[in-house]
Amino acid sequence: MSVTPLPSIKRLDPTVVNRIAAGEIIHRPANALKELIENSLDAGATQIQVVAKEGGLKLLQIQDNGHGIKKDDLAIVCERFTTSKLKKFEDLSKIATYGFRGEALASISHVAHVSITTKTKDSKCAFRGTYADGKLIPPRSGQSADPKPCAGNDGTLITAEDLFYNVPTRKKALRSPSDEYNRIVDVVSRYAIHNSGVSFSCKRQGSLSADVQTTTTATIIDNLRQIHGSSVSSELLCSGERSFDSLDFKMNTYISNANYSMKRTTLLLFINNRSVDSQAIKRMIENVYSDLLPKGGHPFVYLSIEIKPENVDVNVHPTKQEVHFLNEEWIVNSIKDVFQELLENANSSRTYYTQS
Ligand code: ADP
Ligand code: MG
Repeated sequence: MSVTPLPSIKRLDPTVVNRIAAGEIIHRPANALKELIENSLDAGATQIQVVAKEGGLKLLQIQDNGHGIKKDDLAIVCERFTTSKLKKFEDLSKIATYGFRGEALASISHVAHVSITTKTKDSKCAFRGTYADGKLIPPRSGQSADPKPCAGNDGTLITAEDLFYNVPTRKKALRSPSDEYNRIVDVVSRYAIHNSGVSFSCKRQGSLSADVQTTTTATIIDNLRQIHGSSVSSELLCSGERSFDSLDFKMNTYISNANYSMKRTTLLLFINNRSVDSQAIKRMIENVYSDLLPKGGHPFVYLSIEIKPENVDVNVHPTKQEVHFLNEEWIVNSIKDVFQELLENANSSRTYYTQS
């Protein structure tokens, strides 16, 4: 009987390690885009334009008018753990920007062909770098890898092409390009609604009409109307900004009234300006509406919560959509009280009007 020799242990090539890690951070085009949008917002952009081809798998492009990247930083911007946002570990607890780990661009460059064209205000021209596996590479063989001067507006244009070209298993796990594109539109829509003061657009490459389009002067309710239609926006109750000092949190919400219902719950949830999921909040909402709406009917909710950064665990995996925070039960209960108050007031004013 032949015996298979015991395989010896070998160290994986760093490129392979990075590619595996990147595949864990970037699951699909929409989630790469979320990181890129947050970078643009971190850079102070007031205009963000997204273009996608084949659901973002062939091409994902985002252009912003933010502060740009200095030419000298272009050499390391796509390396892992390079960031302008965090210097020491203690900063993690008070970080106000979205990104903090310097992993997004690196990850994307390990699973796609990335190029960055960027111009800071004080630079005469833009510079363009082409990246693979975290490093600048020559755009064509025989050329140098150094960033090249070129024409460009203030701000940053990032393109990621052929996402997952080198991770076939990840690519196979994805659904159709149209499904991926819907997820892209969903991410852009969420950030567009939440960020009044910033104009967003999103379209398919080559298409003349945008699938999301907002303006810099629009309010949250304008954006809700623009994106979800007036049949929803005209049925929303607004809490205005509420502060809960004892629990150290603030909130603002728009919730549909008892006359309105949809097939599935739409929850646009932001915690410290980041689009996230929270099962505790979702359960609370379904609970509040279960007695109000006809069977099979569900509400529409936009909810923004601000919690002291040190009370949210920010050191979680970047793709971890689901979040937990300190005093979760109390906070969720206070939000529930606000929902019930809004719905009861709406209800009593309706009774009042029908009686008069
Ligand atoms: P992080 O956001 O965690 O710092 P990223 O990999 O997302 O890590 O980005 C790395 C760095 O690249 C950022 O810290 C920032 O300095 C710069 N950067 C990325 N995107 C932009 C952008 N759109 N505009 C300006 N700077 C950017
Ligand atoms: Mg980032």
